[in-house]
Amino acid sequence: MVIIMKPGASGAEIAGVIARIEAHQLTPHPIYGEERTVIAVVGNDRPVDRTTFETLAGVDFIQAILKPYKLASREFRKDDSAVTLIERNGKAVTVGGNGHVTLIAGPCACESREQVLETALMVKEAGAQGFRGGAFKPRTSPYSFQGHGEKALQWMAEAREVTGLAIVTEVMSPEQVPMVAEYANVMQIGARNMQNFALLNAVGMSMKPVLLKRGMSATMEELLMAAEYILSHGNYNVMLCERGIRTFEQYTRNTTDINAIPALKALSHLPVVLDPSHATGKSEYVIAIARAGIAAGADGLIVEVHPEPSKAMSDGAQTLTPKAFESMVRQCKRIAAAMDKEI
Ligand code: PEP
Ligand code: MN
Repeated sequence: MVIIMKPGASGAEIAGVIARIEAHQLTPHPIYGEERTVIAVVGNDRPVDRTTFETLAGVDFIQAILKPYKLASREFRKDDSAVTLIERNGKAVTVGGNGHVTLIAGPCACESREQVLETALMVKEAGAQGFRGGAFKPRTSPYSFQGHGEKALQWMAEAREVTGLAIVTEVMSPEQVPMVAEYANVMQIGARNMQNFALLNAVGMSMKPVLLKRGMSATMEELLMAAEYILSHGNYNVMLCERGIRTFEQYTRNTTDINAIPALKALSHLPVVLDPSHATGKSEYVIAIARAGIAAGADGLIVEVHPEPSKAMSDGAQTLTPKAFESMVRQCKRIAAAMDKEI
């Protein structure tokens, strides 16, 4: 960080700041200007609370130089990271880092064994590499369908046996992590849980791949800090997921922050996945936003698909039919080709 002193700060005030910097085992480099003094702080200042300097006499403001996240940052790793979802016929199915766009599709919620198997076969046929389905559903109302729990996890494990698709499913609490990790290939942290630090620590310690969804009111920096929690346990299998943020717009469920795709890829080496279903909330816009996401550089898409969206127990309005998903894949292949990527 750099500490900018107020114009006319006294020698004693400057000396006070220098002493405080040294007390934190950091090295002060004061630059005495004509109008004001600026003190560069050299060393790892991440663990130091900047208010310890902000409140000192004579200090005007502090400028951070280091990003608050380290392991998630592009500076830490120059090359794109790839996360392996599953090994199939001796080949890794990955997201990120390989000139490839990976598709994950399935219903918002697992409703029955038949629905899970039928949807998995259909999305596999259309070209998906992963199957999504909710076993534990974070619902706004406690009276809404909450998911079939472990039974749903078993249906998805069976769907993986049949199709070879990687299973992506949400885990809502640290206590659920061992059970979900046993059945799933990828644990999803939902938007509402992005800053559930106990949960982030638990999935971090599990070493399983994690799809971390951006909170609907979270900044990109907060998303990257949440990723940092998982990475700090040595679990580097993290994918960032843009799923739309809350804005003043009411017509669509959320607003796709398309900016976040190139920005997150510039700030971080982690793969970026777009969820056009939750980002729009309306099935009629999902394909357009899926195309836009690939054009913006997304490494993957996670999309809601149901054999009969009008009968879905949750999120039917934003859910594609298998036929619409097929059309989405066809269109996305052409956009991916323009990006020198394959689907
Ligand atoms: C979901 O994927 O079904 C879901 C609940 O997503 P989000 O956490 O992004 O709302
Ligand atoms: Mn959903």
